[in-house]
Amino acid sequence: MSTLRFYALKESLNRKPIKIEEVERRSAIFGANVFNEDTMRQYLTKEAFVSVMDATQNGSKIDRHVADHISTGMKEWAISKGATHYTHWFQPLTGTTAEKHDAFFEPIGNGRAIEKFGGGQLVQQEPDASSFPNGGIRNTFEARGYTAWDPTSPAFIYGTTLCIPTVFVSYTGEALDYKTPLLRALQAVDAAAVDVCKYFDKNIKKVNAALGWEQEYFLVDSALAASRPDIVLTGRTMLGHSPAKGQQLDDHYFGTIPARAMQFMRDLETECMLLGIPAKTRHNEVAPNQFELAPVFEEANLAVDHNSLLMDLMHKVAERHNFKVLFHEKPYKGVNGSGKHNNWSLSTDTGVNLFSPGKTPMSNLQFLTFFINAIKSVNDNEELIRAAIASASNDHRLGANEAPPAIVSVFIGEQLTNVLNELQNVTNGKLSPEEKTDLKLNVVGKIPEILLDNTDRNRTSSFAFTGNKFEFRAVGSKANCAHPMTVLNTIMARQLIDFKIEVDALIKDKKLKKDEAIFNVLREYIKQSQKVLFEGNGYGEEWEIEAKKRGLSNNKTTPEALKAKISEKALKLFEDLGVMNRVESEARYEIEMEDYIMRIQIESRVLGDIARNHIMPVAVRYQNILIKNVKGLKEIYGDDFKKFGQEQLNLIEEISEHIASINSNVTLMINKRKIANKIIEIDKKAEAYCFEVKPLFDDIRYHCDKLELLVDDEIWPLTKYRELLFTK
Ligand code: ADP
Ligand code: MG
Repeated sequence: MSTLRFYALKESLNRKPIKIEEVERRSAIFGANVFNEDTMRQYLTKEAFVSVMDATQNGSKIDRHVADHISTGMKEWAISKGATHYTHWFQPLTGTTAEKHDAFFEPIGNGRAIEKFGGGQLVQQEPDASSFPNGGIRNTFEARGYTAWDPTSPAFIYGTTLCIPTVFVSYTGEALDYKTPLLRALQAVDAAAVDVCKYFDKNIKKVNAALGWEQEYFLVDSALAASRPDIVLTGRTMLGHSPAKGQQLDDHYFGTIPARAMQFMRDLETECMLLGIPAKTRHNEVAPNQFELAPVFEEANLAVDHNSLLMDLMHKVAERHNFKVLFHEKPYKGVNGSGKHNNWSLSTDTGVNLFSPGKTPMSNLQFLTFFINAIKSVNDNEELIRAAIASASNDHRLGANEAPPAIVSVFIGEQLTNVLNELQNVTNGKLSPEEKTDLKLNVVGKIPEILLDNTDRNRTSSFAFTGNKFEFRAVGSKANCAHPMTVLNTIMARQLIDFKIEVDALIKDKKLKKDEAIFNVLREYIKQSQKVLFEGNGYGEEWEIEAKKRGLSNNKTTPEALKAKISEKALKLFEDLGVMNRVESEARYEIEMEDYIMRIQIESRVLGDIARNHIMPVAVRYQNILIKNVKGLKEIYGDDFKKFGQEQLNLIEEISEHIASINSNVTLMINKRKIANKIIEIDKKAEAYCFEVKPLFDDIRYHCDKLELLVDDEIWPLTKYRELLFTK
């Protein structure tokens, strides 16, 4: 009897939903634990308040003595809310968040103590963070990095700790986190977009990138999860036969949320409200026990922080409900994986969404300008975009049939495709008055109506325009959104800068009118972006063939995909825009390759362990039962025993064959690992893990899963798919 599995099952079947009382309206508690504008007004001096607001909105520096005032106000507020500690909260390149708590409490001699939190402690800290990945940026003798306050993301209290969002950089100034390059990219796109906006509206002073993420996840009972070493150590199941019923009936999608999950969500949403995370939508996803949470979109840096915070929160709240949250992109074979759609838009400080057409022909030309530049930037950087979402776990999803393929393409819908086709015919050079009127009335002028009834949705596109935003759908559920957002905003910034140069040149050299020049450049961009525009089924095999003809990349594995990050083109792009210097780009490449290697290595060890130490012994045990049975039959029936024992004999042989295959494949895998581990060059090592070690996972799994179908359920050691997926 496999004790752990049955103990876990019993535990999970006895669970009751934990009752959640929501005593106050959500709007009343929204942001209650955030040091937001209202709170700042209350706790800060006027000077300090103005200074923080200016830093938030315009990126200005905060004076040291003002920082003292701010920290004092923050401390008063935090203590009034029961906080005892503070921490700099940052996002190192591990993909999770990091914090190190210090108490406000400080002894002042004579057995007395006070609560203290100075400006210095607010603004900068030196966590001893030498074990975070740094890709060789920090040598051990200068191992310390420092964290610096990011006033654009407000401080918040979680539990009894005041958390201060910070960047994390090395002593030499290189970014060691996700936030720093994102902030630089947001600045770059702001500057470039404002310059282009000036063609249309001189009053625009700032352009903000917005992000609305949609977080998919699985819930599994914590006891069941704990009974599976693969889930505990890798976040996914590495073996397990598909259940008789999977998602084929589509009866989970948008269905009634199971009671326990519902209480978890309500609890989680309350926490979100307190922390100012505008959680809005919740629903069941396609796979059994798969769900989604989406907030209202926010400024990109804040949205990224909120997503990281949410993922932390989810783990904590799940514990209270005896769940484990799985963010892995493919926790179960044969059912849908999880993604995190990144809805992205740009909007001005005058309140205009630049991806949304307006009421006048001029504002529609502005829309077209940003729309077409976005398409062009994706067209020119499709391989880099693919690289931005590469990870060992997302590899399972890209190319699998429910998710975007490893090919990046842009879907814009039939109506906008028609508009772009018409624009391709714009006359070269000066336009006649008739042409201009026609363009304004019949092409540009029609866009708002077109979009109003644009119900086109292509769920198979990796990058889809959805009316007033682009939806980047290939981002992994586990990913920190900062990186894809950094890439998107950087390539957009580059594109807008180039656009401005080209338009200005036509105005100056060819003496074209502004709108003529814009039309002319856009026409060329449309022609140059045909490669990436695709309206068909992105999951079909024909698309892979077609995409190849078009010259689009299709990098199915992380080691192949990541190479784009250190191409001369990418290094130069990030460097020119001040987003990442070469050292930073190269360090990130190393860190991600290293991460890939380690994850496959861990998976390989876990799989070897489960196969040899859990599956094989049980298979032998069951085989012995069969052997005993056959021996008994022989005792009773003598030479006639085969009449009754033939099937058992077949089974005995079948089991032996599977055991032999598992054992030899595990041995082979261990040997391949040893060879891979000796390789020094990181890319070669990653390739060895990807193409030599990893393919053996499938062979080992195949035989283990076959055994699952043969061996007595009573003694099978691993919690089965039907139990993991259908326990409510
Ligand atoms: P779905 O894509 O699932 O059909 P919606 O289109 O309503 O759902 O929006 C999904 C996500 O898009 C939400 O997280 C929402 O906040 C975000 N979103 C909506 N408008 C914008 C926008 N202008 N910019 C960025 N994100 C947006
Ligand atoms: Mg969705």
